[in-house]
Amino acid sequence: MEEPGALTAVCRHRSRIPLCDRCVEPAGEGQGTLSKQTPPSRPTDKSEGVFKCPEDQLPLDYAKIYPDPELEAQVLSLTIRCIHSEEGCRWSGTVRHLQVHLGTCSYNVVPCPNRCGAKLSRRDLPPHVQHDCPQRHLKCEFCGADFTGEAYENHQGLCPQESVYCENKCGARMMRRLLSQHMLSECPKRTQPCGYCSKEFLYDTIQNHEYQCPRYPVPCPNQCGVPSIAREDLSGHLKENCTTALALCPFKEAGCKHRCPKLSMSRHLDESTKMHLGLMCALVARQRQELGDLRREVEELAVGSEGVLIWKIADYARKLQEAKARSNFESFSPPFYTHRYGYRLQVSAFLNGNGSGEGSHLSVYIRVLPGQYDNLLEWPFAYRVTFSLLDQSDPSLSKPQHITETFLPDPNWKNFQKPGAGRTSLDESLLGFGYPKFISHEDIKKRNYVRDNAVFIKASVEIPQKIIS
Ligand SMILES: [Zn+2]
Ligand SMILES: [Zn+2]
Ligand SMILES: [Zn+2]
Ligand SMILES: [Zn+2]
Ligand SMILES: [Zn+2]
Ligand SMILES: [Zn+2]
Ligand SMILES: [Zn+2]
Repeated sequence: MEEPGALTAVCRHRSRIPLCDRCVEPAGEGQGTLSKQTPPSRPTDKSEGVFKCPEDQLPLDYAKIYPDPELEAQVLSLTIRCIHSEEGCRWSGTVRHLQVHLGTCSYNVVPCPNRCGAKLSRRDLPPHVQHDCPQRHLKCEFCGADFTGEAYENHQGLCPQESVYCENKCGARMMRRLLSQHMLSECPKRTQPCGYCSKEFLYDTIQNHEYQCPRYPVPCPNQCGVPSIAREDLSGHLKENCTTALALCPFKEAGCKHRCPKLSMSRHLDESTKMHLGLMCALVARQRQELGDLRREVEELAVGSEGVLIWKIADYARKLQEAKARSNFESFSPPFYTHRYGYRLQVSAFLNGNGSGEGSHLSVYIRVLPGQYDNLLEWPFAYRVTFSLLDQSDPSLSKPQHITETFLPDPNWKNFQKPGAGRTSLDESLLGFGYPKFISHEDIKKRNYVRDNAVFIKASVEIPQKIIS
């Protein structure tokens, strides 16, 4: 059997179609191919009565055109494929049944039954009607209202009845229509400005913030009557403005322990002038004492390092006069330590002599004074001591000739024992050890022992290196 040919168009005016004999030749077994689709062209003026055959363009005489039921029957009996065969329809049948098939052909294009204006093949219709058609009917699952597809899309995400979570992530869930009220005035995670400092805070932290807010009003702890003070201003208030805050008397450094409200202070100052003066005097005395102690300590540290004291007796002439006028007039060197943490010693001089040298010689002595480190030292004091009267001649002109005397302390001499608390000024343990006739008044005038009205007495103590270290 021969395959039926494709029919792409069907003439709806079968009875009127003028077909020349050569155009349609009935096939033997009722099959045939209608291969042309061009309708016969008609002259615009019927009166001319001339047509052209669409197949071969030969003129036809209108008068000779007549319906041919037989031929029509033959044509309608031709077997054809569906006009949608290229899209995939597998239907084939007679021309006669094509219209009926197209009424159900799933490839045939039909308008959307919702009258949305779309035209689709019958098989594309169900998904369109269900999902895409803007005119489809939908019911909102939350509010139950009916919508066309278009309106539903607009409604989605806005339905007031839909249950949604709070956008602040507080965890609350509610119908959308309640959300804005919730977020505005109920949500614990809503932000809210602090009523005092105006900074924004989460609602559930604002209470805590108020315990720290620098602008939060607090009462004055002294109940001074100021109703409330911003927290950050409180310390300033207590220091500067609070009428009841206690202040310390400005003479507190001198020892006044008075405290009173700031406002009453001037009265205290007026009433206590004498007392304050007394305190100040005592303070001055204490400080003078301290200064003296400090000066002494500084002097002791400054001289006598490494067991050597160089003692300058300035204003020699006047001091000699004074010594001549007052017998036993003794001049004292600053105390000095033999070494760090060592013995505390002092040199003294009788410019007009003492004992066997009185009136004729300069006498020089040394004595041990109570020191800070006595308990750490060996007693009696037993280290060689050398006294020198320094020759102040210019060493570049002549070799200086110092007057020098050296002795090893007598261990039985009381003053070389460990200084004790029992010493008194009359005690012989206070007596120095030295030379009543160190140098005569004649000899001291020689060379340059006195120069610029000053003499230098040097005392050195030989402390073994191992003791120093
Ligand atoms: Zn079909
Ligand atoms: Zn539609
Ligand atoms: Zn809804
Ligand atoms: Zn919330
Ligand atoms: Zn605040
Ligand atoms: Zn106050
Ligand atoms: Zn006072």
